[in-house]
Amino acid sequence: MRFSRLLVPTTKETPNDATLASHIFLIRGGFIQSVGGSGLYNFLPLGKRVLDKVRNVVKEELDKAGCQEVSLAFVTPASLWQESGRFEKYGKELLRFRDRKENDFVLGPTHEEMMVNLVRQSVKSYKQLPLNLYQINLKFRDEIRPRFGLMRGREFLMKDGYSFHASEEDMKREFDLMEETYKRIFTRLGLEFRVVEADSGAIGGSGSKEFMVLAGSGEDTIVVCEGCDYGANIEAAVRQEKVCEAPAPTLANEKVHTPNVTTIEDLVAHFKVDPYYLLKTVAMRALYDEGKSEIVLFVIRGSDTLQEVKACNAVDANELIEVNDEELEEAGLTPGYMSPMGLPSGVRVVIDETLKGASDMICGGNEVGYHMTGVSLEGVDALYEDIVAVQEGDTCAKCGGRLRYTKGIEVGHIFQLGTRYSQPLGCTFLDENGKAKPMEMGTYGIGVSRLLAAIIEQHHDEKGCIWTEASAPFRLHIIVSNIKDEAQLALGEKLYEAMQAKGIEVLFDDRKDRFGAKMKDYELIGIPHAVVIGKKLSDGLVEFVTREGLVKEEVAADEIITVAEERLCSY
Ligand code: ATP
Ligand code: MG
Repeated sequence: MRFSRLLVPTTKETPNDATLASHIFLIRGGFIQSVGGSGLYNFLPLGKRVLDKVRNVVKEELDKAGCQEVSLAFVTPASLWQESGRFEKYGKELLRFRDRKENDFVLGPTHEEMMVNLVRQSVKSYKQLPLNLYQINLKFRDEIRPRFGLMRGREFLMKDGYSFHASEEDMKREFDLMEETYKRIFTRLGLEFRVVEADSGAIGGSGSKEFMVLAGSGEDTIVVCEGCDYGANIEAAVRQEKVCEAPAPTLANEKVHTPNVTTIEDLVAHFKVDPYYLLKTVAMRALYDEGKSEIVLFVIRGSDTLQEVKACNAVDANELIEVNDEELEEAGLTPGYMSPMGLPSGVRVVIDETLKGASDMICGGNEVGYHMTGVSLEGVDALYEDIVAVQEGDTCAKCGGRLRYTKGIEVGHIFQLGTRYSQPLGCTFLDENGKAKPMEMGTYGIGVSRLLAAIIEQHHDEKGCIWTEASAPFRLHIIVSNIKDEAQLALGEKLYEAMQAKGIEVLFDDRKDRFGAKMKDYELIGIPHAVVIGKKLSDGLVEFVTREGLVKEEVAADEIITVAEERLCSY
């Protein structure tokens, strides 16, 4: 491709709303263009080339693993979502609308219902299973805060795959195969990533793994072990049960006057105890289907913090939101002095599972200005679940090593669904004995457009993008310093043709612009290799440049074709 013919509106201006390198460089490098600043993007020629590169890597590996590509309608009938029960549950991210005949529709944010509908119409027998169908298509989620460019758009490109099986065992086999396939995809794309255990949501189900590209700018906190390969999203991470070195307080079981002592810090100072022996009661409002809601008290140790996703799953809610003091008082609760002991009846309580039967605890007295000491939870009736967040320095449950936090960008998610969708939607098959059974399913997603952002987050410098070999829009960038110099232009043309003849994609900067401006564009766009043909050509020399580190090597002009071929074909 000749640069002079290509639409690449590069700019020095950093977009106002951009803070991440990937957002800044993808816009400044002329890869994408924001549409109305609300999580919608146009892909310009360079961006489309990268998107297609990534898409092809994904497609090649999936096809090799036996998956089949399909393409489903983007506008999907609401009736399917009503059948699965998600029309209500999905919340505001689901864009609902009505056509001229008053039929309800949604823009697909994910396609479980649609794919199940496709399969239930065409698959009847165990002989047609297993099946793994995928598409690489647009998704729409009316995200509350679209941000970071392609990282969290409202419209985005996703690979979504769904597998159908006659048995749970076969579904698990496919899940493992997808894990291996995803590893190959992200490795080919040149990414440093980690596979972590993920939250399976209220749907439950055991297996759910996320693929996290390691980057400081990632929105997800992941817990990793320094001693073994354990990794989990903070929403799902577990630890070895904590022990406390400090002795338990030896206080009688009684009500104590504690005016103005309301926080954990106040209590630690007042009673001179380790926060491990304090009960912290966090009140939240849980939202359910059909507008129902209730206040729930989550009880953890004073030394712990509540993990809200775990807490939300524990009560099977759609969402947890904050509650204010007035609402608490209305429910007969005492802000600052709440505890699970002696509560007004009807308030739902969830206690962290490690507190089951705990004794010598201190907790609120459910009365202004009072706490209870010497409290035992023995026999206290509540729901006991893991609702705490693993902290840095906690102990790995797998190997005893030290756990620490790191940041990641979620680029893929694989999930064992079981019969969550096949059951309500009646997606059944006849087994060997002629008995109808719901199919066992798995679902597998990759954020294809998000991958562009993830690649740049991991591969850039202060000057611009550094595309990996498999994702680069072109393999080689040829820069002719002065196109009025006939010898320079002639060599540029010759190299351009030779590379094309070898099937190497080349961007040939044949523009009349200043050399400095062309080099700036090269650094910003970030094609992995370049040949710069400049003044030294009169001494028979040109430069071979590697974008990573901007490493420059002088090469004899009459050898450059061979050298470029060797370098580029070695990948
Ligand atoms: P997140 O936790 O980041 O919101 P998710 O768990 O909702 O993502 P999934 O439903 O698992 O996402 O979707 C599959 C993949 O699609 C994700 O792993 C992610 O890479 C990508 N993805 C999800 N939401 C967006 C978005 N708003 N913009 C771009 N890519 C997205
Ligand atoms: Mg996910």
